Amino acid sequence: MLPLPSFALYAPTTLDDALALLRDHGPDTTLIAGGTDLLPNMKHGLLAPRHLVSLAQIPALRGVWVEGDVLRLGAMTNLETVAAHEVVLTRAAALAEAALSVGGPHHRRMGTLGGNLCLDTRCRYFNQTYFWREALGFCLKKDGTKCHVVEGGQRCVAAASNDTAAALLALEATIELVGPDGARSLPIRDFYTADGIANTTRAPQEIVVAVRVPLRPARASVYEKLRRRAAIDFPMISLAARLDAEEGRVNALEIAVSALAARPRMIRAASQAQGKSLAEVPRAAIAEAAFKECAPLPNIEGDPAWRKKLVRVLADRALRRLGLGPA
Ligand SMILES: Cc1cc2nc3c(=O)[nH]c(=O)nc-3n(C[C@H](O)[C@H](O)[C@H](O)COP(=O)(O)OP(=O)(O)OC[C@H]3O[C@@H](n4cnc5c(N)ncnc54)[C@H](O)[C@@H]3O)c2cc1C
Ligand code: SF4
Repeated sequence: MLPLPSFALYAPTTLDDALALLRDHGPDTTLIAGGTDLLPNMKHGLLAPRHLVSLAQIPALRGVWVEGDVLRLGAMTNLETVAAHEVVLTRAAALAEAALSVGGPHHRRMGTLGGNLCLDTRCRYFNQTYFWREALGFCLKKDGTKCHVVEGGQRCVAAASNDTAAALLALEATIELVGPDGARSLPIRDFYTADGIANTTRAPQEIVVAVRVPLRPARASVYEKLRRRAAIDFPMISLAARLDAEEGRVNALEIAVSALAARPRMIRAASQAQGKSLAEVPRAAIAEAAFKECAPLPNIEGDPAWRKKLVRVLADRALRRLGLGPA
């Protein structure tokens, strides 16, 4: 049994109070939502904040709302609720499928959408006990000076391992944040960076408040995940595809892939589908191009060459599920 380091826990009931706590206690303070990622990481000695600010008692952060042609999901909405919500299921299916694929039932009940979006990156050389990491001489992400994934590498390339990120990228979501300088929104494509030590553009004192997903007519989306078992496991490849179609023709096709490195990415080749009739979409060529565009690293479990091949399989499967390409 790994012990938790000691900390003080605060449970504000308003966002203003949460922001004040972040400001007053300074850099040694971390937000906690469901705690399903943070607490195991603290037990592994990956971080040891002296102050935890819980978001669990702030009602404004919990809920799913349809506001005109936008679906708005509060950051503290748990993944179980996201996965089962009727509008998410029917209008943003990739998000429902991604949320349902996270961990096991307990993780989805405790784990929140905001926590999933802000999940720390993962690496086989990092998500280990202190004893294990010490024996290896630590690494750039924590306590060390070198990377064990990329020899001589000066940047951490730990993998974005949050299932909902790829789905929300494909769905063109927007992230709402609030911080000491007020509220701001940004497209999710600007939220993630290629730095595995801190792979989001969220400032330390900012709180993710909600996610907005545009609801478009004639839009369909799917999510595919490569993992060791059909339950509990983090993604080894995470892939989401979104189709906007009109009168049997493709208006837009987007494919997002994650669990490669620190930043989820879009597949450029998806644009080949533009303007084609659904049956004419070159599914195999797009899947092949996705395979070529992606270069999984030996940062998480699963042979990188095998994971790369599976990008092609998952892309083909996703496009087939969207009814694209020859039968
Ligand atoms: C055995 C196991 C299996 C798992 N499998 C998966 C999986 O398959 N896929 C997957 O994606 N995840 C998986 N997880 C990780 C985790 O359960 C989920 O990612 C979950 O959604 C995290 O949400 P949380 O609310 O528990 O976040 P927390 O652990 O509370 O927080 C995670 C991080 O986000 C920050 N944070 C939380 N909320 C906010 C906010 N509103 N604004 C700003 N920062 C915030 C916290 O400070 C922390 O850094 C697994 C975990 C375990 C232990
Ligand atoms: S990618 Fe390199 S620096 Fe980052 S956690 Fe893994 S070993 Fe450490």
